[in-house]
Amino acid sequence: LEEEARYAFLQYSSSLSRELRIEDEADDQTRRNQKGGRRKTTTASGNRAIVVDEPGVTRDRLYGRSFWGEHEFMVVDTGGVINISRSQTDVMEDLAITTTIGMDGIPLASREAAVSRMPTMIEKQAALAVEEASVIIFLVDGQAGLTAADEEIADWLRKNYSNKFVILAVNKCESPRKGMMQASEFWSFGFSPLPISALSGTGTGELLDLVCSGLKKIEGPENLEVEDYVPAIAIVGRPNVGKSSILNALVGEDRTIVSPISGTTRDAIDTEFTAPDGQKFRLIDTAGIRRRAAVASSGSMTETLSVNRAFRAVRRSDVVALVIEAVACITEQDCKIAERIEREGKGCLIVVNKWDTIPNKNQQTATYYEQDVREKLRVLDWAPIVYSTAIAGHSVEKIIVSASTVEKERSRRLGTSILNQVVREALAFKSPPRTRGGKRGRVYYCTQAAIRPPTFVFFVNDAKLFPETYRRYMEKKLRSDAGFSGTPIRLLWRSRR
Ligand code: GDP
Repeated sequence: LEEEARYAFLQYSSSLSRELRIEDEADDQTRRNQKGGRRKTTTASGNRAIVVDEPGVTRDRLYGRSFWGEHEFMVVDTGGVINISRSQTDVMEDLAITTTIGMDGIPLASREAAVSRMPTMIEKQAALAVEEASVIIFLVDGQAGLTAADEEIADWLRKNYSNKFVILAVNKCESPRKGMMQASEFWSFGFSPLPISALSGTGTGELLDLVCSGLKKIEGPENLEVEDYVPAIAIVGRPNVGKSSILNALVGEDRTIVSPISGTTRDAIDTEFTAPDGQKFRLIDTAGIRRRAAVASSGSMTETLSVNRAFRAVRRSDVVALVIEAVACITEQDCKIAERIEREGKGCLIVVNKWDTIPNKNQQTATYYEQDVREKLRVLDWAPIVYSTAIAGHSVEKIIVSASTVEKERSRRLGTSILNQVVREALAFKSPPRTRGGKRGRVYYCTQAAIRPPTFVFFVNDAKLFPETYRRYMEKKLRSDAGFSGTPIRLLWRSRR
């Protein structure tokens, strides 16, 4: 039974994510069917889920970025909830290890909370995913019916996560009428059951609509009134590059700490800050903690700790000031953080600090530096570079001005007509390549589906006719003609009949 339960969860979650991911294939199918004179719609509402495959951020949880309607969200596939074989001691040992080393994105305090609430049967990875999630899809098997394990999970969710939006999806409900009956069995869990079929796609549109209605209820930055939205700037970089000095130059020693987290779980200190243009910011400083951590550990452990801390700060931020030292090389650690910034869609500026230590500077020095930085941090080729001497307070205000601009670019919406004009010009300047069979990609229209980061959806005849080189060309053109300096942008290519 244990084996079966685990297997079932694995199977459901992966078939559900497959359903979310097969949209491209579904489009192909639609075309094929159409040729044969038959029609097939992929989803009930005609909306389409757009999922960009991304390699998993961690070993145990699979992440994919997804779009539905106006919403962008990350789907986390936990790969299974139940692990009956582990004892509480195993779990506690695991917890001890993970809290020391740190894990991606989840604040230590909430990680501890997640695991302390967790019954032994629940997989730690699943518990963490639940803690991290805004909306929880609790998936059960409509054909197998209600099990004791399902009940226990329902209990756990109800007791601990009443503040979260839980959707009870009953899978394998292929037949609409029977499906309703299968689903009704689960009413006793205290969540309203939604019959779906990952296999046929029935109900998955409704499921995504529900997910989005759940997201709307959550206070995300996009849902706040503009004046309430205070963007967060994380100051990250290797030890000793001058993060604290920058912070001190900006806000002085006696800063207002806005969200101190008590005790040993303190991870980063947030400070409120108002830029000269009146824009309010929250500064996330990861520097102050380092010294304490360095006392407790050394060498590669300190490196691991500081990278993980940087990752967490990146996740909480809107704009990242990635600080590097003028005389030192860019390290693998910097590259890892840079990749994370890009992947999480955060704004970024590169701060080359200790600029005073470069002797005999002339007009070419900065150009030379820029080339070097661009060469090594290719993934951030869109990020502006600021040169500063934090100890003397030189140019630190440029960091804030630049961060403010980056934030605005990251939140910018381009009008559809301007956008399509830019795209038309780009197409006229260079058309997509013709295939051997003589086929060529056509863009019907383009729309900006989201901000933070700006995300553009290209509706085309066949996404496969747009090779990676052409997609990169289009991104470059969008940037050169429409700006978006300092922010990653996403281009999604969707096939349409
Ligand atoms: P953090 O570990 O990144 O927070 O780095 P700190 O701000 O503590 O700085 C590390 C060392 O570099 C300190 O001794 C600072 O005085 C020094 N430092 C910071 N910024 C500059 C700078 O712009 N120029 C020079 N020459 N030294 C700096």
